[in-house]
Amino acid sequence: MDELQTTLSARGLSVSTLPDKGRCLFATRDFRPGEIVISEKPYVWAPNKSGGESRCDGCFGTSNLKKCSACQVAWYCGSSCQKEDWKLHRLECAALSKLHKDRRKSVTPSIRLVLRLYLRRKLEAEGVIPATAMENYKLVEALVSHMSDIEEKQLVLYAQMANLVNLILQLPDINIKEIAENFSKLACNAHTICDSELRPLGNGLFPVVSIINHSCLPNSVLVFEGKSAVVRAVQHISKDSERYWDSVSVTSNSPKSLYVCPVLPEHYLFPSAFYPSYWLKSFQYVPL
Ligand SMILES: [Zn+2]
Ligand SMILES: [Zn+2]
Repeated sequence: MDELQTTLSARGLSVSTLPDKGRCLFATRDFRPGEIVISEKPYVWAPNKSGGESRCDGCFGTSNLKKCSACQVAWYCGSSCQKEDWKLHRLECAALSKLHKDRRKSVTPSIRLVLRLYLRRKLEAEGVIPATAMENYKLVEALVSHMSDIEEKQLVLYAQMANLVNLILQLPDINIKEIAENFSKLACNAHTICDSELRPLGNGLFPVVSIINHSCLPNSVLVFEGKSAVVRAVQHISKDSERYWDSVSVTSNSPKSLYVCPVLPEHYLFPSAFYPSYWLKSFQYVPL
């Protein structure tokens, strides 16, 4: 974490823990409106498969796709995307190829995210993929899972998915409980990667951007450039005084309508009264 603090401090940021909020990202210098606060590549990612349409594992594109002939799970638009993903997919491919063809149909994007999380950890430990201040498994370990708040039905589902991951990976140093906890971490922390028109393309885990909390009056906005998450200031953020995206507290007055966050649509709903209109333009309106 010291290495992360040093890297963030060079960008005018710092991570602090507040008793009531947990970890928060603070500004240690002024940020102008429009300025990039932080940009982060996903630690792991997986494309969506909505409406039967496949996407490239590298760039999430849909043109000229070819299926990986060995595992029949991954798709690529060309050799550069395949090459970029090969270090990780080589292990994933070998593991998936051993799975019965019918079983491979159960390998959803969520399952792939967790598979790739463990494979990336393995490659990091072996020095194949170097760990850096912003890209290392320790940052994943530090994420919250909120396991104690999860309903039993959901826990059973995580346990079933964890069993499948365990069956696919067959790694000696992982256990079902820990895998289930990682599913919960991803549910709380992973982001839906969208294109410029806010169409969902896939999911990614951004361990540093995940430190930023949500707010009903945010001072920055999260957009995606390719697969990278880019947080930009939408107002002047002054040194030391601001937290980006404070936690959501849906108002106690019952709202007449909610807006669904385009970034985390499954997890965050906000009452309209708390958003400036320019921000709401990108939100999906849900009358109650
Ligand atoms: Zn591609
Ligand atoms: Zn493959």
